[in-house]
Amino acid sequence: MAGHLYLVSLPIGNLEDITLRAIRILRAVDLIVAEDTRNTRRVLERYHIKTPFSRSYYQGVERKRAEPILSLLKEGKDLALVSDAGTPLISDPGYPLVRATIEAGISIVPIPGPTAAIAALVASGLPTDHFAFDGTVPRKQGERRAYFEAIREEQRTIILYESPHRLLTTLKEIAKVLPERRVVLARELTKIYEEFLRGSASEILQTLDARSEIKGECVLLIEGEKRSARKTESVDVKEVVSLLKKEGISNRTAMKILMCCLDLPRNEAYRLIHAD
Ligand code: SAM
Repeated sequence: MAGHLYLVSLPIGNLEDITLRAIRILRAVDLIVAEDTRNTRRVLERYHIKTPFSRSYYQGVERKRAEPILSLLKEGKDLALVSDAGTPLISDPGYPLVRATIEAGISIVPIPGPTAAIAALVASGLPTDHFAFDGTVPRKQGERRAYFEAIREEQRTIILYESPHRLLTTLKEIAKVLPERRVVLARELTKIYEEFLRGSASEILQTLDARSEIKGECVLLIEGEKRSARKTESVDVKEVVSLLKKEGISNRTAMKILMCCLDLPRNEAYRLIHAD
C-alpha cells in the first residue's frame, strides 16, 4: 500500500508555535522532505525528533525531485514535507509534488499550523472577511507599478510578502498609487521584536525613515477599496430614487434599498426619498 504525504507546518519564528500533531507526525514518518535541512534541524532538535531527511526539496529542483519522492510514497513510505518556515506551498516549494501525488492517487494529509500571512491578517485590524494573498510584489519597477494599478479596485484586503530590502520601494509605490489606503506592516511575527505599524503608506514611511535600518521578515497588508465609495460613485442615486417612486415602491422599502444596496447612511436615504 502507498504511503502518505503529510504537509507539515512549522513555526515562523517562535519555536513554540508547533502543534502536538505536527510533532507526532514528524516523529512517525519514515523521512522528512525539507527545503533546507539546516533550517529544519533547529526545530527537530528542540523537539527531539530523530527522523532522517530525504534529499532537500527546494525551488529549482522541485520538478526533478518530485519523481524520486513519488517512488518512495509508492513503496509505502510515509513522508512529511516541510519548508523553512510556516506552511509548505505558501510562497514555498511543494506545489508540483502535491499535483504529482494527487495524480498518482496517493493520499495527502495537511497538518495545519502557522503561516505569516494569516498571523499578520488577524492582528492587522483590516477586514478579515474577504482577503487575497498575492505572494511577493513584482521586482521590476514597471511590473510593480502595473501590479498596484491593477489592485486599485480590489475590495478585499491584500496580503503581500516583502523583504526588508525592498520594503521602502514598495511602500513608496503604494503611497503614489494608493495614497488613501490603510496599510499595515507586520514585522518579525512571533519573534522578540514583533511589530505592527499601521497608517497610510506615507505615514509608515515616515516612521521607518527615522530608523537606521529595517531588519527582519515583513508582511504588508493593504486595505481594499471601500464598497460604498465605488458604488455611489458610479450610480446616479437620484435616478434610482425616481425609479423606485415610479414603480410604486413604498418609502420604507426604498429606504432599505438605498441603505443596503448603495450603502447610504439612513439620514441621507431619508432626505433623498422625501425630497420633491
Ligand atoms: N511558508 C511561509 C508561510 O507560511 O508564511 C512563507 C515563506 S516565504 C519564502 C517567506 C516570507 O514570509 C518572508 O519573506 C516574509 O515576507 C514572510 N514571513 C515569514 N516569516 C515571517 C515572520 N516571522 N514575520 C513576518 N513575515 C514573515
